[in-house]
Amino acid sequence: MQFENYSYKNNELFCEKVSLNSIASVVGTPFYVYSKKSLVDRFHEFKASFNELDHQIFFAVKSNSNLNVMKLFYSLGAGLDVNSGGELYRALKIGADPKKLLFTGVGKTEDEILLGLRNDIFLFKAESIQEIELMNKLAASENKKARIAIRVNPNVDPRTHPYITTGLYESKFGIDEGAAFEAFQFASKLSNIVVVGIDMHLGSQITKLSVYQDAIKIINRMIQKLRESGIHLTHFDIGGGLGVQYNSDLAPSAKDFADATIPLLKETNCKIFIEPGRYLTADSGALVSKILFTKEHRNKNFLIIDAAVNDLLRPALYQAYHHILPMIQVNRDLVKYDVVGPVCETGDFLALDRPLQKMNREEHIAIMTSGAYGFVMSSNYNSRRRVPEIIVDDDKFYLAKERESYDDLVKNEKIIEELFK
Ligand SMILES: *Cc1c(COP(=O)(O)O)cnc(C)c1O
Repeated sequence: MQFENYSYKNNELFCEKVSLNSIASVVGTPFYVYSKKSLVDRFHEFKASFNELDHQIFFAVKSNSNLNVMKLFYSLGAGLDVNSGGELYRALKIGADPKKLLFTGVGKTEDEILLGLRNDIFLFKAESIQEIELMNKLAASENKKARIAIRVNPNVDPRTHPYITTGLYESKFGIDEGAAFEAFQFASKLSNIVVVGIDMHLGSQITKLSVYQDAIKIINRMIQKLRESGIHLTHFDIGGGLGVQYNSDLAPSAKDFADATIPLLKETNCKIFIEPGRYLTADSGALVSKILFTKEHRNKNFLIIDAAVNDLLRPALYQAYHHILPMIQVNRDLVKYDVVGPVCETGDFLALDRPLQKMNREEHIAIMTSGAYGFVMSSNYNSRRRVPEIIVDDDKFYLAKERESYDDLVKNEKIIEELFK
């Protein structure tokens, strides 16, 4: 079900037992809000779906890297899939055991690899021969062995938006299937590398389960071939990418996903790693914003709101649809609106031609399903301050990240007097 923990009570929109209006009156707008119950429920649902399989879930931190969100999944038993030195730092900051960290990424720097090695993280994913060579060299200089999984690109079209497609030959990710066998052979001969697994990640917002099935069959054959050549892998990491429902079209559940993949995954005799991001976080979140002005141009109606493309990039970047709910539900005529922000770009929209109850200045809206790839993709463009993140737990809400100040915007800049002499 969509936005399960958001509902109207006396026509007022609540997250769990907290009215969004009560949060707005304390922190102002715009702000992101996440339902803790939604995060917990999604995790348990996902975990239960894969119960019969020997598996480990690694939360894909990049979908929502608020420390509290990370710590919540970690405390529920998830490992963490990090994508950069910054995400690794966050994982260490919440006290995660390095043995529960995977380091993903197509372009890790020397510093990032060293940070992982020095903290003895469980696993690096290797995405090219050059990277394997570099890891071997750096591990030797640290007197360590780097545990790696090789990311294989099975060339399966996930039939999602091209910007979030990763498992095709023309995309930059992984080592293509044809070259992967040699990469495994090569890596397994290096003295400071231990090859323990095989990895894939096909893309994001995938709603066709046959895409996973096709790819798993390809990887299964590779695992078999490697085994015959004397390389015994302990795990198969199937990545993340399971889609969620944004619009009215249905997305498969974790249970559907598990039912479609478990029989194939059992054939491998490997422990299965899964890296959900969006599936765990998207539905928990909403971006709440105030209407600054309304205006009409001939036959177009605009809602000019205080949130913008810098706060939620998905509509502009992927033509993504986010459902919009009025904070106070009123029985008024429907009007088709373009919902736009104050940023000086025509691409600054949150929704186009969207039928909503007629809205007025000073009223609020909630842009739903924005808990994944929402705040984490926000920027300071137009010198806008990044917005606060709120976590609701039953009848309480907590400020998990404050709104930036104007000082925050300039704190790493300095005026160089020599330039003005
Ligand atoms: C982005 C990413 C994920 C998570 O993807 P979702 O679509 O959010 O589930 C998992 N694994 C890897 C390697 C990724 O790059």
